[in-house]
Amino acid sequence: MRKPIIAGNWKMYKTASEAKQFVEQVSGLVPDASKMDSVICAPSLFLPQLVVSAENSPLRIGAQTMHEAVEGAFTGEISPVQLADIGVDYVIIGHSERRQYFNETDDSVNKKVHAAFEHGLTPIVCVGETLAQRQDGNTGSVVEKQVAHALNGLSGQQVEKLVLAYEPIWAIGTGKTATAEDANEVCGIIRGKVADLYSEQTADQLRIQYGGSVKPSNIEELLGMQHIDGALVGGASLEAESFLQLLEAGN
Ligand code: 13P
Repeated sequence: MRKPIIAGNWKMYKTASEAKQFVEQVSGLVPDASKMDSVICAPSLFLPQLVVSAENSPLRIGAQTMHEAVEGAFTGEISPVQLADIGVDYVIIGHSERRQYFNETDDSVNKKVHAAFEHGLTPIVCVGETLAQRQDGNTGSVVEKQVAHALNGLSGQQVEKLVLAYEPIWAIGTGKTATAEDANEVCGIIRGKVADLYSEQTADQLRIQYGGSVKPSNIEELLGMQHIDGALVGGASLEAESFLQLLEAGN
């Protein structure tokens, strides 16, 4: 049985005081970590404060990106060592917005995934197709290629620990959710690819989230699908009330 994992991706929203207030509001109401994993991926600026606010709660804190190097002359970047040092547990890697606007490639995603493991962070690795790729019937081959690249060189044990997020780009922030069946089909393709690359056992352990216009009204149907083990949620994770409703559905 795979443990569900619901993660909020706040993107570039909220001020520090709003972020702190949110975590204080939800931290006492988050389900026990033995039942499910609950994560907020916040802007880097707020991470130290949120780690402290969530200290006595099962809520875990994640970053939205990081550099792959331990340290160096990379103005504006944050390293895995710096994240791990302040108590961050998760890091989103290869979000489509990072790929689209900040030149992240399958190659840099792979380097970052390795760096995350080296420093004890759990990567949430994002893959997903554009609308044109879907319309051309290439969804399966696009995500298989992204998955194979992202995982290159990892051990089966590492793959069992990471989280893959299937986020069709056309469903992000658009209100257009993939149907639960379509989302499940692609998550199944991803699991099949991992079985080919590693083993059935590794593929069975791997947790796959769906992301793209997930909200309290559609999460239950998505989580009911065989290959969907959680959700990566943008807009609907910004309000404490709806975030808690998402957690309730996963619990
Ligand atoms: P929305 O839930 O706002 O569509 O965003 C999805 C997403 O990009 C999560 O990483």
